[in-house]
Amino acid sequence: MSVTVRVPAKVNVQLAVGAARPDGFHDLANVFLAVGLYDEVTVTPADALRVTCSGPGADQVPLDRTNLAARAADLLAARYGRPADVHVHIAKDIPVAGGMAGGSADAAGALVACDALWGTGASRGELLDLCAELGSDVPFALVGGAALGTGRGEKLQPLETGGTFHWVFALADGGLSTPAVYREFDRLHEGRSVPEPTASADLLTALRKGDPEALAGSLSNDLQPAAVSLYPALADTLATGRSAGALAALVSGSGPTTAFLVRDADAAESVAEALTASGTCRTARTTVSPAPGATIL
Ligand code: ATP
Repeated sequence: MSVTVRVPAKVNVQLAVGAARPDGFHDLANVFLAVGLYDEVTVTPADALRVTCSGPGADQVPLDRTNLAARAADLLAARYGRPADVHVHIAKDIPVAGGMAGGSADAAGALVACDALWGTGASRGELLDLCAELGSDVPFALVGGAALGTGRGEKLQPLETGGTFHWVFALADGGLSTPAVYREFDRLHEGRSVPEPTASADLLTALRKGDPEALAGSLSNDLQPAAVSLYPALADTLATGRSAGALAALVSGSGPTTAFLVRDADAAESVAEALTASGTCRTARTTVSPAPGATIL
């Protein structure tokens, strides 16, 4: 008996970052959009907690209890006073350390899968609370679609989307550490005042209308200068996608994956081909949004 849960990657169509708080975290206004690149998390009864991983980048995923999916299984088990005696297998397709919240998605997937396998019957609200304990990006992987995250990004408000948006993602060689990108953000803003992060009204309207041109005009990522500063070659990738006809280009989350919003599926194919041929990225993937949250298969 096993349970498999499919979980989506995300792109931040807006990532507004406030000044560092005394606890080191930053207040955010974070507009998440789930995209159709998925990991699959399968849980099977076992003598003890064990994690395996397959797929691209699997060798960079830790297989001990620091794996976010293992931490999720441990947390649910502790909450319900039972052993976390489960084998968690992650079939990876979300780029590892790519700024698309793959580890967070795996955590949400493991929670939902273990809840089903163990029959713990946690409510949606309890699952969301456990997700928030595991990390700021984990609750969104559970709900999917589109949502505004405030606080550290973990307080979620679902958003309406009026249609399908087409994307190309350019995968980079290597990864960027999210804490390192925030440290670079702090360094770049030293001695300057950082405005309160607020969601862009134009962006929310563009999402609601399903209007890619309007969305392209209001995409923003305050972490982009920090990510490009740590990984300067990203500037070439962004420029290549723009000149190949993307409506807009931005760094995905903390990078180094870059995201290109395009008009339709044909544009996605030609932008992906141009990016791949340019040698400015490792590979390019086309996909659509919004995508559903954690789903039991
Ligand atoms: P985010 O966008 O949430 O900051 P990310 O997409 O940049 O994250 P992840 O792929 O989630 O990055 O992984 C970041 C690091 O977390 C990895 O380098 C890895 O060491 C660790 N990690 C822990 N659990 C996992 C997991 N299940 N999958 C991938 N990485 C994991």
